[in-house]
Amino acid sequence: MPQPSTVSPRAAVLTDEPGLAADPIADTAARAALRARVRELVTEVAPPERVLELDEREEFDEVLYRALAADGILAIGADAAYGGSGDIQEQAVVIEELAAGPTSMAVYLIVHYMGVHILSSFGTEEQRRQWLTRLVKGEAKLSFALTEPDGGTDIARVMSTSASQVEGGWVLDGHKRWIGGTNTADFLLVLARTAEPERSSIDGVTMLLVPGQTPGLSPTVLPTASIRGFDTTEIRFEDVHLPASAVVGVAGSGFRQVLSTLNRERINAAAGAIGAARGALDATVSHARDRKAFGSTLGAFQAVQHRLVDGALAIEAARGLLVRAAAIESAGGRADNLSSMAKVAASEAAVKVTQDGMEIFGGMGLSRDLPIQRWWRDVRLWVFAPINNDMLRNNLGERLLGLPRSF
Ligand SMILES: Cc1cc2nc3c(=O)[nH]c(=O)nc-3n(C[C@H](O)[C@H](O)[C@H](O)COP(=O)(O)OP(=O)(O)OC[C@H]3O[C@@H](n4cnc5c(N)ncnc54)[C@H](O)[C@@H]3O)c2cc1C
Repeated sequence: MPQPSTVSPRAAVLTDEPGLAADPIADTAARAALRARVRELVTEVAPPERVLELDEREEFDEVLYRALAADGILAIGADAAYGGSGDIQEQAVVIEELAAGPTSMAVYLIVHYMGVHILSSFGTEEQRRQWLTRLVKGEAKLSFALTEPDGGTDIARVMSTSASQVEGGWVLDGHKRWIGGTNTADFLLVLARTAEPERSSIDGVTMLLVPGQTPGLSPTVLPTASIRGFDTTEIRFEDVHLPASAVVGVAGSGFRQVLSTLNRERINAAAGAIGAARGALDATVSHARDRKAFGSTLGAFQAVQHRLVDGALAIEAARGLLVRAAAIESAGGRADNLSSMAKVAASEAAVKVTQDGMEIFGGMGLSRDLPIQRWWRDVRLWVFAPINNDMLRNNLGERLLGLPRSF
């Protein structure tokens, strides 16, 4: 039985121009080289069988993580003083390439790059020295803990995790759920209510840096259907004592700090969805070429071809939005609407492509020895995370079209 490759036989970025190695708008020569390097690492370290094995065992790929660290890929987005080069456009390339194979590592990198951005933008000198330096070298991993059992989309209003100021620091109590990587994290960035909101529910929330071994912190791994190569946990905080220096940025402004990173997170989520969709589409095209039916192959049937073409079209349309959004953010602008549109388009493309893939694979789609079912499960994440598509449509209705606020 042919094993679908996780590495695209097509150019990762569509270029209609013969003789051009890459699309000059999406990929400069440096980004094309970065893309090629990440693909090489994926081929060498995380071939499809290994990705499926780790997914079955619900295990993080430490070998791939170390290889990414050795290549400086974890430092992208950090200042040059921390060994960083490149920005959101380069991060999106890395995430897309990972999601086309080991999707769980792409999800870790989305959290990781968010941490790099937060510590670079808001961290104190000491926090950067102690944590950012290790983060970018692959010597420390982080978790970002915002969502709670009572709410994700409406978290600012329902947040019950709180920190009270005591002499010399803070005491943190509460409960977070659906948090990536806490079981293996060396430190967490936790959002907690520290004051009653005065003007808006997003005020009075503080971001706290919590070392993973702090007494009173207990993570439990949650069994999930998706992203099984990166643990999803719930965490309880009981009487967790933290020094005053645990505050990241300004006390009471933690949620505003998170909002300032969201465009980047959406762009990277779009890159993940595009990568996974691409991996799934390539596997499906290759199956449609080989699978015989009615004296021909599946790929010869117009109904099958049209679905595959519509998938390719949806991917490239989403990529167009992503490339524009990332270029604006990278140039120092704010791509609020475009990053939301990229995330919606990419996650919906990924759901369509993987759903069609499952149908075109027929019974084989349900085989746990083939990756199509893993992408089909994994891409569900990006429909509702980091923020759900209905909410993004609410935002776009208000901000892009000037309609009344609908939530
Ligand atoms: C594998 C995984 C990893 C995750 N990693 C992290 C992490 O590292 N850190 C973290 O903090 N969180 C994480 N999350 C949580 C994720 O961000 C939330 O699941 C997400 O924000 C949605 O929140 P919710 O699940 O509470 O859904 P809800 O808020 O209950 O929303 C459910 C659905 O209701 C609809 N809906 C809600 N509000 C509206 C509205 N105003 N208008 C229209 N429709 C609406 C939408 O269709 C939405 O999908 C993770 C989740 C998973 C499953």
